[in-house]
Amino acid sequence: MTPHDATARTPADNATPPAEPPAEAPAALCEVAAYGERAAGLRAPTGYRDPYGRTVDYLRISITDRCNERCLYCMPEGYRGWAQRPDHLTAAEILRLVRVAAGLGFRKFRLTGGEPLVRADVVDIARGMAAIPGVEAIGLSTNGTRLAALAGPLRAAGVRTVNVSLDALDPALYRRITGGELAPVLAGIRAAVAAGFERVKLNTVLLRGLNEGEWWPLVRFAAEHGLPLRFIELIPVSRADALTDANFLPVTEVMAALGARERLIPLPDPRLGHGPAKYYRLERTGALVGFIGAITNRHFCETCNRVRLTADGKLRPCLGNHGEVDLRAALRRHTREADLAALLRAALAAKPAGHLFRDHYTPCRPMVAVGG
Ligand code: SAM
Repeated sequence: MTPHDATARTPADNATPPAEPPAEAPAALCEVAAYGERAAGLRAPTGYRDPYGRTVDYLRISITDRCNERCLYCMPEGYRGWAQRPDHLTAAEILRLVRVAAGLGFRKFRLTGGEPLVRADVVDIARGMAAIPGVEAIGLSTNGTRLAALAGPLRAAGVRTVNVSLDALDPALYRRITGGELAPVLAGIRAAVAAGFERVKLNTVLLRGLNEGEWWPLVRFAAEHGLPLRFIELIPVSRADALTDANFLPVTEVMAALGARERLIPLPDPRLGHGPAKYYRLERTGALVGFIGAITNRHFCETCNRVRLTADGKLRPCLGNHGEVDLRAALRRHTREADLAALLRAALAAKPAGHLFRDHYTPCRPMVAVGG
């Protein structure tokens, strides 16, 4: 995929998902997984501390692999791999896993997708999570298209922070990148601010040849609204060829360009929230800008604090490795709480030292299916 493929999308791409998933990568590369079984014999050293000494206390939960946008870096063109609805974890199953994770010391949780706000019971899920002892922070990642209506109910349900994807402020370019409309997203951002979330952040994926002209308008927009903005390096989670010199843009290039306009002052506490971004304050504009250099920062994985749960119930210790542990099968076998906890601990024990994105990584499932 190159960014320019977006223009080739047709309305048919938005059609109802069919039953059969496509082959996204050669089968041999997709022999994922089964390290749930392998790892079950291992024991994580101290509950939620992984073998590399990283404290993993953050679970990102994809509640659906469906999305009402078609971001060209997230979903391969013509993607048809949606999980069938019975494959999706139910709200009760998600809450059961959150209870088990909280019991192991997980404290931070995020609802994501696909697009989490297309799932009808998202507010109920958030409310149920907020009531679970040990759950300290619930965040939401969204494209913002449905946030105007849902910001208030989500805040009331206990969601504390919201990240909104915003790759461009030019409506035509926004449409080209995402397949969607900008106006509802801006309304959603305004609604999130009005709803009183503790923090609303903006996320921009860097796409060479597409949104370079948007950096400065986005910085100004973020400053005007008092919202942190993060620039994110493109990672190959859609198709293997997503990460080429033609479309990859390192965060250092953005830093240099912004730095040429005004001084970037590093923040004393570089971690704002639970993420991997390095933050700076722009001296004159006052904008708070973060940079996520997943590819160029060689130390990126050293402080990784997260694992992911896919909409179809697979625990994914690392976004940039194929391994998954099947929690849904365990849930549906009516596995006891203690055994679910053991499975989760085993997944933590199997969390790799680092991602494979620099090593010709070929995703078996695209980002939209794994959960961002
Ligand atoms: N639909 C929601 C959204 O737009 O935020 C949640 C899911 S989305 C997969 C979560 C995040 O992953 C977004 O900020 C998105 O920009 C980011 N993302 C998706 N594909 C990516 C890629 N190939 N490289 C870097 N970030 C990506």
